[in-house]
Amino acid sequence: MSEPLILGSHVSLEAPDYYLGSVKEALSYGANTFMLYTGAPQNSIRRPVSSLKVEEGKAAIKDAGLDPTKIIVHAPYIINLGNTIDPSLFEASVTFLKRELERVEALGLGILVLHPGSHVKAGTEAGLQQVVRGLNLVMADDKTHVKIALETMAGKGSEVGATFEEIRYLLDHVDKPERFGVCMDTCHISDAGYDITDPDALLAQFDRVVGLDHVLAMHVNDSKNVRGAHKDRHENLGYGELGFDILYRYVSHPRLKNVPKILETPYFNDKPPYKEEIAMLRAGKFIPNWRDSM
Ligand code: FE
Ligand code: FE
Ligand code: ZN
Repeated sequence: MSEPLILGSHVSLEAPDYYLGSVKEALSYGANTFMLYTGAPQNSIRRPVSSLKVEEGKAAIKDAGLDPTKIIVHAPYIINLGNTIDPSLFEASVTFLKRELERVEALGLGILVLHPGSHVKAGTEAGLQQVVRGLNLVMADDKTHVKIALETMAGKGSEVGATFEEIRYLLDHVDKPERFGVCMDTCHISDAGYDITDPDALLAQFDRVVGLDHVLAMHVNDSKNVRGAHKDRHENLGYGELGFDILYRYVSHPRLKNVPKILETPYFNDKPPYKEEIAMLRAGKFIPNWRDSM
């Protein structure tokens, strides 16, 4: 029998069970990994980790036989290390990320996914240089072992990191490259303009420019928009422009075998779609109109 796919979804972290609740939610979807935010994705208000039922969560991870090195934390969207226009926002982002690395380690985890940043109106070059500056400040006196996975972006607004070359630039210019990796996002890569319909070719291209050995996580999302749209609107598997078959070929690709795959697809009828989506990916078989039974 072949190894099960390392597959999960975004899960919540909320009262009353917090981290323990995140683990239970993941298991209820048939997942063997998951991704969480340490608080609301839109803000930087964070409860102390000591109040998050961390020991209970760690015990549940162990009992379920999940591999904590494959479980992911995502930094909030408001963080922007690319900002050269507003120094206070840049500094707040650096400070938040330093604390976030400590929170990730306190959860017993090792990977933090980060949107590299937006250049606002300063241009890609200035934005990339500022992201490098920020990442170096974050890592300078960091004592954790957490790696930052730079996410491939859709190129919405003034986002940097939408091309493989920009991701390469960041990895090449940080002071501690061993502390960094990449999170590939299928929706974003298509939105950025790449043709993802030939996984072998796309992964070979990524390998040449960035290196597949740097991939720490993959976000598996269908897209509401066609290639190159720069919109960043995720869609449920098989309901978007990418389609189930292509996404399944990434999820099951031998070159991504050890990479945790995380669904960030939207809720449907106010319900999480992850149990259904994970089941289809595990079976390797698409069920047409699967949302109708939700
Ligand atoms: Fe993201
Ligand atoms: Fe993503
Ligand atoms: Zn996205």
